[in-house]
Amino acid sequence: MARSRDHLGLLCDVGELAARLAGSSDIQSFLDQLVRMIARHLLSNVCSIYLYDEDAGELVLRATCGLAPDSVGRVRLKPEEGLTGKVFREQRAICEQHASLNPDFKGFNGINEELYESFMAVPVCKGMEKIGVLVAQREEKNSFAQDDVKALRAIASQVASAIENARMLISLGLGESARPAPVVEPPTRVRGDVASRGLACGPAAVLDPAGRKLSFTADYSGNYSLADFELALEKTENQLAALQEKAGERLPESASLIFDAHLMMLKDSAFVGGMRKRIENGESPPAAVLALGRHYIDLLSANPHAYIREKAHDVEDLLRRLLGNLTGAESELDVGGEGCVVIARDLYPSEMLKIALANVGAIVLVNGGVTSHVAILARSLRVPMVIADDASLLLVLEHAPVLVDAETGEVLINPPEEALRSFRERQAARETLDAVAEETERKSFTKDGTQVKLLANINLLSDLELASRVKAEGIGLYRSEFPFLIRDVMPSEEEQFVLYGKLLENRPEGTVTFRTLDLGSDKLLSYFDEVREENPALGLRSIRFSLKYPDAFRQQLRAILRAGCELPELRIMFPLVASLEDFRQAREILRQCIEELRVEETECHQSPLVGVMIEVPAAVALVDALADEADFLCIGTNDLIQYLLAVDRGNEKVAGYFLPHHPAVLRTLKRVAEAGLAHGREVSVCGEMAHEEKYLKFLLGAGIRTLSIDSQYRPALQKKISTLELAECQRTAELMLEQKTLAGVEELL
Ligand code: PEP
Ligand code: MG
Repeated sequence: MARSRDHLGLLCDVGELAARLAGSSDIQSFLDQLVRMIARHLLSNVCSIYLYDEDAGELVLRATCGLAPDSVGRVRLKPEEGLTGKVFREQRAICEQHASLNPDFKGFNGINEELYESFMAVPVCKGMEKIGVLVAQREEKNSFAQDDVKALRAIASQVASAIENARMLISLGLGESARPAPVVEPPTRVRGDVASRGLACGPAAVLDPAGRKLSFTADYSGNYSLADFELALEKTENQLAALQEKAGERLPESASLIFDAHLMMLKDSAFVGGMRKRIENGESPPAAVLALGRHYIDLLSANPHAYIREKAHDVEDLLRRLLGNLTGAESELDVGGEGCVVIARDLYPSEMLKIALANVGAIVLVNGGVTSHVAILARSLRVPMVIADDASLLLVLEHAPVLVDAETGEVLINPPEEALRSFRERQAARETLDAVAEETERKSFTKDGTQVKLLANINLLSDLELASRVKAEGIGLYRSEFPFLIRDVMPSEEEQFVLYGKLLENRPEGTVTFRTLDLGSDKLLSYFDEVREENPALGLRSIRFSLKYPDAFRQQLRAILRAGCELPELRIMFPLVASLEDFRQAREILRQCIEELRVEETECHQSPLVGVMIEVPAAVALVDALADEADFLCIGTNDLIQYLLAVDRGNEKVAGYFLPHHPAVLRTLKRVAEAGLAHGREVSVCGEMAHEEKYLKFLLGAGIRTLSIDSQYRPALQKKISTLELAECQRTAELMLEQKTLAGVEELL
C-alpha cells in the first residue's frame, strides 16, 4: 500500500542542503546527508546515489542509507546492467513493485539488496550530461506511488548541480579518503577483441599505475652491509647483461639500447658512488639507494623535455631491481614474469617490448583498438593479446589464474577445470598447426586458377622468420618506423643502413616494399618533443613529418637506397599522401638522394619503384592522377577507414563504427582498384582488412590481386583463396557495391 508524503517539505530541505554544500569539498558527507534525508522523507528503507564514472564506463554506488556501508565504492555496474543501469541508459524513471521478478534486476552479493522488493529510481542529469541515478527501495512490495516518483524526480533535478559538482570533485581525486577502495568482485569471464592471436594461461599480473610506482616510504628493516650492497650491484649488472642479450635475440633493432641507460647509471660514479658514500657514513644500504635514487628521479622529472623526464622510469626500474637484489623483495613488479597474463589499462610501445622480453603468456588490455600500434607490435612480438573494454579486469587479484583465448577473444578468470582441459588440448593442436604452416605453398590460387599474391607485413626483424616459414612472396609493407619507436634515440643513417641490410638478408624471397617513416598520431617518438599536438591523427604525421624534417627523411632514403643497391627490384612507398604535391615532393627528395649518392660514388639502387599509399580520402579523389605518376598503389585500410568514416582506429569507444564493410569503404576500394587497373598499376591492400577472410571475396571481386598481411594469417588465407571462384567473387562484389546500407552488406557477408 502506498504511503503519502509531504513532498513539498522535502523539496525545500533539499534546496537548502544543496545550496549549503554545493561549494563544499566535503563530498562524502554531502552525499550521505542527502541520501539520509531522502530516505527519511520517502519513508524508504534504502536510498542510494550512483554516480557515473566516465573513465571506467560504470555507475558507482557513492552513498547509501540502508545497504551495507562497505558497498559504497564497491558496487559498480555498467549502464547495460540491472534496473539502475536501465534508468541511466534510458534516462527515464522506473518504478517496480516487485523488483526481483524483473528480468533486468541484478542483485549484488552481500549488500542486502535482496531484502527490498519495491524499487524506484530516477536519472540525475544536467542538460545533456548524464550524471547518475537516485534509487529508493522499500521492503514491502507494491509500495511506491506515482507521487513518490514525481517527488524523487523533482529532488533529482534540484540537486543535479550539486551532485555534478560532487562527481567532478571525486573524478579529480578529492573526497578520495571518504571513498573506500573500489574492490568490486572482479569478473569471471570477459569477451574482448583479438589483437594478437594465441592461447595462454597463467597467473595474473595487473599493471595498475599505482602498483607500478616505487614506494619511497617502504620500511626495509634488516641489517645490510656495504658488502651486501656491492653484491646486489654485481647481481643487478649480471641480470641486465642477460636481459640485454635476450633483447638482442628477440629484437635486433634495439639490441643494445633498451638497457643501456640502466647499465650506464650502474657504472656512474656520482650515482653508485653517492650511494656507497652514504653507506660508508652509516646510512643503511636500502635508505642510501632510495635517497640517491629519489634525488635523480626528482631531477629528471623536473626536466622540460619529455624524453628526459621518461628516464625517471629507467631510474625507478633500476632502483627496484637493485633493492630487490639487496633485500630479496620483489623486483620485477612492473611487467609481470614469465608465463603470466598481464592485465593493463594501456601500454606504451616500449612497455610492450619489456613485457615481451619477460616472456609473458598473454596481455589483456582494457583500452585500445586492434588496429592500434601496440596491437600491431604485440603481433610482431608474438604475444597473444585481447582488448576488452571492461575496467573491472583491473580488479582481478594478483596471481589469480587467467586463461586468455586470443582466438575467440575470451578471457576467463579462475577458469574451471573443464576450460583448462580444453585449453591443454588446443595447445597441443596448435603445435600441429605449426606444421600446417610449413606445408603452405609459395603461390596462392583461386579454385579457377587466378593467382593472388600474399606478401608479408613486417614491423620488426623478428617477423622475418615466420614470413619465410610460411613462404611469403616478399614484403608488401615494411613499417620502417618501428625501429625508431622502440629506441631512445633516432637511428643514424649508418644504423639504418645496417638494419635494412639485416632485413634484406633475412627476408623471404621476392619483392621488398619499404614504407618510409610513418611517425606521428599514435606513433610518437619519446625523444622528439616538437610534435605534441592536440589532434595528432590529423597533424604532422607520416609523409608530412618527413617533408617537414627533410634531413631525417634523406637519411632514411639514403640508407634504403644503399642497403637495397643489389636488389633487382626495390620498392619505396610514401604513407598518408593527400595531394599530388606530397607525392612529387617526396619523390623529388628521393631523386636528389640518388643523385647525391651517385656523386659521392656510394653504391646505391638507381631506379627504385616509387609507390603511394592510399590512406586519405583526398588521395582517393585524386587516385587517377596519383596512379598516373606512381609506380604502384597500396591501400592502407586502417587509416583509410579511420579518415573516411571519421573513426579513431585506436579508440575502443568507437570501435563499433570502424566498419571495413561500410558501403562507403567498399565503393572507395573499388574506385582505387579500378584506377590501378586503368593505369596498369598494381594495387595492393595492406591494412588489417586484408587478412580478414570475410572480406576476401569482395577484395578479389573488386579486382585486388595482392594482399600484404601479418604472416600468421597466410596459411589460412591461402586455404580460403583456394576455395573461391573468381566469377563468384565478382558477382558478390557487384552485389555488395549495389548496397546502400550496412545491413544490406552485412546480409551478403
Ligand atoms: C594502414 O593504415 O592500413 C597501414 C597499413 O598503415 P599503418 O597501420 O602502419 O598505419
Ligand atoms: Mg597507415
